[in-house]
Amino acid sequence: MTTGGQKRLIVLGAGESGLGAALLGKQQGWDVFVSDGGAIKDNYKDAMHHAGIEFEEGRHTEEKILNAQCLVKSPGIPDKAPIVKKVHEAGIEVCSEIEFGFRYKGDSKIIAITGSNGKSTTTKMTFHLLKEAGYDVSMVGNIGISFAKQIAEQPTEWYVMEVSSFQLDDIHRFRPDVAVLLNITPDHLDRYDYKLDNYIASKFRITENQTGNDFFILNQDDPVINKYMLNMISAHSLHAKTIYFTMNNEQKLPENEGGMIHDDEMTINYGGEELKMSIHDLSLQGKHNQYNTMAAGISARIAGIRREKIRESFATFEGLEHRLEFVATVRGVDFINDSKATNVNSVWFALESMKKPTVLILGGQDKGNDYNELMELVKDKVKAIVCMGVDNAPIHNAFKGVVPAIIDTASADEAVKAAFSVSEKGDVVLLSPACASFDLFKNYEDRGKQFKEAVKGL
Ligand code: ADP
Repeated sequence: MTTGGQKRLIVLGAGESGLGAALLGKQQGWDVFVSDGGAIKDNYKDAMHHAGIEFEEGRHTEEKILNAQCLVKSPGIPDKAPIVKKVHEAGIEVCSEIEFGFRYKGDSKIIAITGSNGKSTTTKMTFHLLKEAGYDVSMVGNIGISFAKQIAEQPTEWYVMEVSSFQLDDIHRFRPDVAVLLNITPDHLDRYDYKLDNYIASKFRITENQTGNDFFILNQDDPVINKYMLNMISAHSLHAKTIYFTMNNEQKLPENEGGMIHDDEMTINYGGEELKMSIHDLSLQGKHNQYNTMAAGISARIAGIRREKIRESFATFEGLEHRLEFVATVRGVDFINDSKATNVNSVWFALESMKKPTVLILGGQDKGNDYNELMELVKDKVKAIVCMGVDNAPIHNAFKGVVPAIIDTASADEAVKAAFSVSEKGDVVLLSPACASFDLFKNYEDRGKQFKEAVKGL
């Protein structure tokens, strides 16, 4: 149904992406209605009032929703939600915000980055490379402002976009010019019927609409990605030009093109130009960041940026807060905030990059973690574990007898004091929790901030 000939767009969920879709829809002449089952932030309400967009909060009024031509569903809302089921039954097209934005992006180009870990870092780094090279570029998606809002308010020639699997679940035509898949480890399985295959398929949707003119950049060292790629190749469902990055000396890159690290030297080879750089000259340390750097570097080369410029920008890039962020050295002990490490794989990479005896602050809301993956690194590098959570039993069970000391705490302040008390000059205290933060903190940012405050208080 339409109002005065207008097509009706419903936006379900008024978060950052929902607001963006609503503003863009309004601008493009849709009759827009926003419905949020919870409370909407005041500044979002102001923005909708200002734009003349009708909305409701605390409920979903079916009569106002089920007459739509298109519904943009916020990534936080699962398909199982009763209202979403009804929308599907009514035959209404359901899109994610990136899909909706895609339809209005014009000739601009998209570099879309997904993976289980490293999305924000790689997105920011790729944005930095394009920005420093003087491109008209914006950074959108889960990091910063939503794609749709950026298009509505300040369209750019290039979009560097962080994409989650939830955003990919509801695409139809979304087609990035460059897609990056960093890695796949189990995460968010509650949204995928606890089937890893569903989650993998969702990540790979980033390439499903790509053509032979587009690029798909992948991590060749990731066994999950490799296995799925073989399936795709045999099913002839891969259309983009693939470019790999690897650290494995045994691997041969097709046509020698892509990213490699051998003997501490990184090579990015694309378009007949070879960029070589020592990994010690990169501003971000750690193996994971070397992967992220290769992915960003290849994307930048495809975008046409010359190697000298990329090399310069790699050296000056500043990482993000809460990702292996150096906080301070207090009486010879370094403190590092990796609060964003909410799964075991991120902690593995954090520990792998530690060069000093480590006191590890671990814990929070456990998502069914398997800590075995960390066992070798913990034996090798960790002198004490400080548990910071409401339920620390899983950590005790995993590391009892492996680490000389396991200490229970229940706040950032207690954890920092306990960690400091067991450390000596030359050690490092690493907050890398492997867990969600919601038992003691508002979110991972709050956890990181409280940690940094506690360090300052020492
Ligand atoms: P995302 O946006 O995917 O959550 P971030 O860049 O915010 O990724 O990093 C999240 C956590 O994962 C941080 O603890 C960071 O140190 C770690 N990390 C970053 N890049 C990678 C990677 N390529 N592989 C594994 N862990 C990573």
